[in-house]
Amino acid sequence: MNILLLGSGGREHALAQKIAESYHCQQLFIAPGNPGTQQVGTNVNIGINDFEAIRNFCIEQNIDILVVGPEEPLVNGIYDFMQQTHVDGQKYWDGIVVGPSKKAAQLEGSKEFSKQFMQRHHIPTAAYASFTAENFEAGKQYIQQHSLPIVLKADGLAAGKGVVICNDHTSALQVFENMIQHAQFGNASKKVVIEEFLTGIELSVFVLTNGEDYQIIGHAKDYKRIGEGDTGLNTGGMGCISPVPFVDDAFMQKIETTIIQPTIKGLQEEQLVYNGFIFFGLIKVGNNPFVIEYNCRMGDPETEVVMPRLQTDLVALFAAMHNGTLGDANINIDSRTAATIVAVSGGYPEAYAKNIPIYGLENIPKQENIKVFHAGTTLNGNQLVTNGGRVLAVTALANHLPEAINLSKQTLQNITFKDIYYRKDIGYEFL
Ligand code: ATP
Repeated sequence: MNILLLGSGGREHALAQKIAESYHCQQLFIAPGNPGTQQVGTNVNIGINDFEAIRNFCIEQNIDILVVGPEEPLVNGIYDFMQQTHVDGQKYWDGIVVGPSKKAAQLEGSKEFSKQFMQRHHIPTAAYASFTAENFEAGKQYIQQHSLPIVLKADGLAAGKGVVICNDHTSALQVFENMIQHAQFGNASKKVVIEEFLTGIELSVFVLTNGEDYQIIGHAKDYKRIGEGDTGLNTGGMGCISPVPFVDDAFMQKIETTIIQPTIKGLQEEQLVYNGFIFFGLIKVGNNPFVIEYNCRMGDPETEVVMPRLQTDLVALFAAMHNGTLGDANINIDSRTAATIVAVSGGYPEAYAKNIPIYGLENIPKQENIKVFHAGTTLNGNQLVTNGGRVLAVTALANHLPEAINLSKQTLQNITFKDIYYRKDIGYEFL
């Protein structure tokens, strides 16, 4: 089969590598890709939101499967666009899209939509209320009477920055005003979801579904803060481990029965068309899982630990999703632990320099249990240079977590670029 993958981060490099390994993959294209994806497929210079160009490419290159990496095209409706037909009812392109319909992608694209969905289907999540400019005064009152800490969330997509946790009412009121009255996150914060703060430990679970059947393809715990000991500003993700030591069979069973199954049933009942990954962002409170968020695609850096452990052929799973045989698939997951550590540009997540030469990748041992995923890199002539905040994710697999972490750190010592920074304490609470 011919496959087109959209995106250009570490997630896409990890997906591209898994797809390229598939027995069923004939040709793999990545749009726009990065120097890492170019090693396992062919990069194509098309933007992820240029739907016309994507469809034309799918038609011209006989693409069978379109895999959408990031959320933006999904929330913008790429699934629906690819189903469009000529006036005679014939589809422009008759392939498989891995991703939800525009309506179902609202599970990620609108926090209010996802909270209402969870409420309708009795899926455990934090108590909430939502407000706009119309009921701004009621929102202020709600905040004043709310227990602390209090969580304020811009309703729409805000690149992971639209969530603010406040420890006092004055700052919560200020944030609320900034979001609604001063469009702090643009249109995304025209509506604000105010949530009860849940205390617990976070994890994420990844599912592939066609809206009827599903398979759990892995789980992980990521490290979002820039500083060691989970301090400092939030980032896109500084590292990740899989499996998560506290997730045993009994807890996973609870996640399945109280969260995953009601979610899939809810998709069916509401006729939300969904053919792709669901990322369940969860928090373990006491001994019970609650949903913090749904994402309608894989996570980054979670994909960099989930894909290296997945032993089942990913393209075969996409085909099974499409053919209605996903429920019969066998999911095999490597029993080893995977740990990834992300090397970032100095200054990130605030201002940082780009175009800094990266050295040393050639010195990394070519071993099956070490994988270097490109995230924010590009080529300047023949020289690999930095092109983003998160530059490379180094994943190592080993029998135990400490070995995996150490191997990732050792591998990172081969890599140098000016002002390179990475956390040395990924997985610390389990070591
Ligand atoms: P991202 O996509 O980057 O994970 P997001 O902008 O979609 O983030 P959420 O995942 O809803 O937003 O929240 C971001 C983070 O804020 C969570 O990972 C969690 O650490 C914290 N958080 C969100 N809601 C709550 C809550 N109700 N209680 C405690 N912490 C929360």
